[in-house]
Amino acid sequence: MPPRLQDLPQIQTLLDQPAIAVLTERYSHEETAVALRLIVGALRDALRGGREVVWPDFESMAFAAEVTAKIEAGRAPSLRPVINATGILIHTNLGRARMAPQAVAAMQSVAEAAGNLEFDLSTGKRGSRHSHTERLICELTGAEAAVVVNNCAAAVLLSLMATAGGRSVVASRGELIEIGGSFRLPDVIAQSGATLREVGTTNKTRLSDYADAIEPDTAVLLKSHTSNFRIVGFTAAPARRDLAKLAAERNVILIEDLGSGVLVDLSPFGLRDEPVVADILKDGVDLVMFSGDKLLGGPQAGIIAGRRDVVAQLKAHPLMRALRSDKLTLAALEATLRLYRAPHNPMKEVPVLAMLSEPLASVQDRADKLARELSTIANLDPETEQTAAYVGGGSLPQQDLDSFAVSVALDGMSPDDLMTALRSAATPVIGRIERNRVLLDMRTVQDCETALIVAAFTQISAA
Ligand SMILES: *Cc1c(COP(=O)(O)O)cnc(C)c1O
Repeated sequence: MPPRLQDLPQIQTLLDQPAIAVLTERYSHEETAVALRLIVGALRDALRGGREVVWPDFESMAFAAEVTAKIEAGRAPSLRPVINATGILIHTNLGRARMAPQAVAAMQSVAEAAGNLEFDLSTGKRGSRHSHTERLICELTGAEAAVVVNNCAAAVLLSLMATAGGRSVVASRGELIEIGGSFRLPDVIAQSGATLREVGTTNKTRLSDYADAIEPDTAVLLKSHTSNFRIVGFTAAPARRDLAKLAAERNVILIEDLGSGVLVDLSPFGLRDEPVVADILKDGVDLVMFSGDKLLGGPQAGIIAGRRDVVAQLKAHPLMRALRSDKLTLAALEATLRLYRAPHNPMKEVPVLAMLSEPLASVQDRADKLARELSTIANLDPETEQTAAYVGGGSLPQQDLDSFAVSVALDGMSPDDLMTALRSAATPVIGRIERNRVLLDMRTVQDCETALIVAAFTQISAA
């Protein structure tokens, strides 16, 4: 007779069995009970749904082993590595930039030992945590001074609070952006205690619009890089240099929220719309802010660079203490920035830039190799196809990167179910669905990760 709902054992009955009771001691009563509820719950759902069930022998060692596996699965780290096969280089939900080995090593060395975070080794007196990255940022951007905070959102908030709190900020209607995660510039300006004075229109803002809006209480002209959308056609915005001149004449400061902010010119790689930080400062912008973990390729951080007197104001602001970076971030950022100095080549050594600049033929080789290995797995029909990859992270919205992907379908499994199975692999694999097939983009996958993808498919196909 097939098993019925009333044949399911009580959780307490199972807990009292010797092989299971051992587990309550080795792990905990709570974890064992949770695992049992999950297993029994799955059986109940299967019975209710009229699906075929493999009825376990609840008193067997095999069942105890199943419970053990469930407990161990529940103990797996929550935050762990995954394989980014989405083709989005800087994927915010997947932790953005993959860091260089030098940055990882720097974090490890200051994590496991004491460090001179705020200690001046030459005088033996208190030092500044800002000193470790400031000189490098200045060297690489031409800024007079720089400071690092938790992220770019914090950088914008702190900059506005310190320079415009209680006064007004002039910004173009075409640049009042939302970054995502409810970071909306007008709200951030309000939070900073400043008043927003909007000028121009969505598509056109002229220098005279800014000039006419400056009042005695105006402290800041704010420019923002419209990094995740583009207005095309009948548009106009004043040149940075002219805005900077206006700001200087009227004794207000010009601040630019760059978002990504690159230190090297990426136009040779077909990416023409990311302004280089040094060029922006050369145009006379007083303060720029950009993220550490977007195209810079380092840890999560917000870098603020510019005029010495303005940066000094930020460093002295009471909010600085709440927004400052920790030693791991500062160590990783310093190590990443060092890769931008000769004899290093950031396009090869900073992983985000290496992914971005990898020749298409090399991406194709990786796709061909993976497809060949996957073709030996039963019921799988891998194919390679040319795709478009994206920088992501709110950068370069319109420009895609040529790429290659391996597309797969598994007999008897929907693309959604295959995506789910790939996410539950030992190392989760995150791809995307296109035309009813699962696509694994190879521009964002490393050579050393393809073996893990093969292992995931082998397991799925055998299940
Ligand atoms: C991404 C972005 C931010 C926010 O940066 P975080 O480092 O995520 O805080 C702010 N402004 C612009 C223009 C951005 O693109």
